Amino acid sequence: MSQRQNRLKIAEILASPRLEAKTVVMGWVRTKRESKAGLAFVEINDGSSFGNLQAVVARDWPGYDAVVPRLYPGTSVSVRGRLVASQGGKQAVELQVDALEILGEADPARYPIGKQKMSYEYLRDYAHLRPRTNTFGALARVRDVLAQAVHEFFHDRKFIWVHTPLITANDAEGAGKAFQVTTLDLAALAKSGKPPDFALDFFGKPVNLTVSGQLEGEAYALSLGDVYTFGPTFRAENSHTSRHLAEFWMVEPEMAFADLEDDMELAESFLKFLCRAVLEKCPREMEFFRERVEPTVFERLEGILAHPFVHLTYTEAVERLKAGGETFQFPVEWGVDLQSEHERWLTEKAFKAPVILTDYPKDIKAFYMKVNDDGKTVRAMDVLVPHIGEIIGGAQREDRVEVLEARMREMGLDPAHLDWYFDLRRFGGVPHAGFGLGFERLVQFVSGMANIRDVIPFPRTPGGIR
Ligand code: ATP
Ligand code: MG
Repeated sequence: MSQRQNRLKIAEILASPRLEAKTVVMGWVRTKRESKAGLAFVEINDGSSFGNLQAVVARDWPGYDAVVPRLYPGTSVSVRGRLVASQGGKQAVELQVDALEILGEADPARYPIGKQKMSYEYLRDYAHLRPRTNTFGALARVRDVLAQAVHEFFHDRKFIWVHTPLITANDAEGAGKAFQVTTLDLAALAKSGKPPDFALDFFGKPVNLTVSGQLEGEAYALSLGDVYTFGPTFRAENSHTSRHLAEFWMVEPEMAFADLEDDMELAESFLKFLCRAVLEKCPREMEFFRERVEPTVFERLEGILAHPFVHLTYTEAVERLKAGGETFQFPVEWGVDLQSEHERWLTEKAFKAPVILTDYPKDIKAFYMKVNDDGKTVRAMDVLVPHIGEIIGGAQREDRVEVLEARMREMGLDPAHLDWYFDLRRFGGVPHAGFGLGFERLVQFVSGMANIRDVIPFPRTPGGIR
């Protein structure tokens, strides 16, 4: 039987050390140092916390010569010992070793994770080992805390978590290009020169990976009231930016009996709740990000907490952008989709606060957003934050059957393909609203990481999959 039952996680030990207690720790060696006095100091990390535990091996431990010389960064070990107050100034406690067993060696000549500073680009080649580093370990823990906070926030507000499908036959809803899913033999088809017959495909028709769980979320909201989805989303957009992935996670709440005001209130409370959760639960990780990644991470979070979000319409924003005297790479005119540079200027320069833009031109937004009385704009809202730009996109949904139908036709979509979606309006329809938060953009915002590829464990980007 393994010693797992007796094992303590380093996070537990550091949070409430029980001095003199017999303790078993399992983890990976970060560093080893041998002193002239004949002691070996071995820093061990087990992933549970940012902090390491220092194990001290006395020269007279019988296994010293057989074990200590084989301890290198990356070596996995099981250590049994006694927890004592540390002599050194760096840590409060250390482990006096009674027994140290090597579980797996790590050849220093071949181990790719060195002590020296490695670039994020370099580490992307070792996505399977980079969680051993301070940065990626911290990111994984912060990501987890944020994910748990998402559930906590909605659970407290009595929202029900629904699991929407990843494979869908819904017509692309204009939220980016979809990945087609097929079991047809493409090589054989290419050889035959015949067009594919999707009646013979797995589902008997063409299907895609979902670009959003929203439409299905609406269905559940119109039965259960308030719901949310939290899952992976796929977009075959060929954008090589620092904020787009081909596979990313989205949180999509949907509320019945709600309008755009309610939607904005939810988005603001939600972001504030998430920022507070990280500040409370990950102080050590945040301190590390401040030191090593981005000096302004605390100001960023405090900026979200301190300000009521600024509300303004797209039309007002365009006027501000044109009058602001700033030269942009992409010129601004009423009707264009705002670029990241415009979004960032508004939140970082013009208002120095999070901004919610509403009432976008209908031509640049999806078919399901409620058309305003002006006939030109829709009840959309995007939340813009410093350094990222758009972090949330949402809307009040169109609940009038005729208007929805006209909008779909206008956008070249066939309403017959989404008949079920019309049922939600035909039978007991109610005003409803929701949004999508890009989970990786949130982790980027919180951690200060410049590239979205570094805040998801195994990033998928155009031409890039490992
Ligand atoms: P953008 O204009 O930034 O490409 P979008 O308007 O296409 O985003 P939505 O369809 O509104 O995005 O999706 C909701 C949220 O999902 C966005 O606010 C963003 O946070 C996130 N998101 C969208 N596309 C991506 C992507 N390719 N990679 C990571 N996150 C994304
Ligand atoms: Mg959007």
